[in-house]
Amino acid sequence: MEKMTQAQLKELVNEISLTYFDKPYQDSVSFNNRLRTTGGRYIPSKRKIELNPKFRRELGEEEFTGIIKHELCHYHLHIEGKGYKHRDKDFRKLLKKTGSPRFCQPLPSVEKKTTIYTYTCVACQHVYKRRRRVNTDRYRCGKCRGKLKLAEKTTRK
Ligand SMILES: [Zn+2]
Ligand SMILES: [Zn+2]
Repeated sequence: MEKMTQAQLKELVNEISLTYFDKPYQDSVSFNNRLRTTGGRYIPSKRKIELNPKFRRELGEEEFTGIIKHELCHYHLHIEGKGYKHRDKDFRKLLKKTGSPRFCQPLPSVEKKTTIYTYTCVACQHVYKRRRRVNTDRYRCGKCRGKLKLAEKTTRK
């Protein structure tokens, strides 16, 4: 996916605003690399939308458009003096009207991961798989009371 410039981003947000809200977007928008799990945010005091470039890269244009629509709901309601927060009626109504998502999809790269610790008994070689770390000074092999050692630590999605 090609990198988007600031000007292209502004144009995209304005286009989406015109298409779904029949109003232009006249304030500022930028990519914010420090956003982690949120796809975007609207800062009322600055009248500014910030978007997470990772969502565009990992989830594609369609999901990214959804995030922009969501932030535009906050924006338009805010500048018109209406209820622009998540629990406000105006906000929920506008989300519905414009087909904007309530929540954004989590990023594949930050999805919850499971770590599996594999221990083996040094005496009888029995293998134990655990979801958490085991204190090998205290826990011994269930078969022979031998000492356990950490053989492997794997993380998977
Ligand atoms: Zn929101
Ligand atoms: Zn053992």
